[in-house]
Amino acid sequence: MPRCLRCGNRKSFVSSKVLPASPYSNGPLSGLIGDFKENGLEQLTSMGAVKAVVNAASSHPKEYFDTCFYCGSQEVAWEEDLAAAEANNIDQSTYIEPTNHV
Ligand SMILES: [Zn+2]
Repeated sequence: MPRCLRCGNRKSFVSSKVLPASPYSNGPLSGLIGDFKENGLEQLTSMGAVKAVVNAASSHPKEYFDTCFYCGSQEVAWEEDLAAAEANNIDQSTYIEPTNHV
């Protein structure tokens, strides 16, 4: 599940890779909107994305949803990446420099 590092949004994201069907500047940010809940992608809304793209995004949401729906930030982190980073930090903080045995 993605999380916006700027506003904390964890629900709605869009894909910058999918252009909106509407050419108007007040249209949606993207041709594809994804709604997430705790166990993953809940709903995909196509705003002009073709079915093949919708299907691909459904299978690989991490590769598509890179923009926050609410604030437009692309500082989107995925939970599994954050967990991995935290695990690395723990490893580093508990790592003890080897000392030369006398
Ligand atoms: Zn945001």
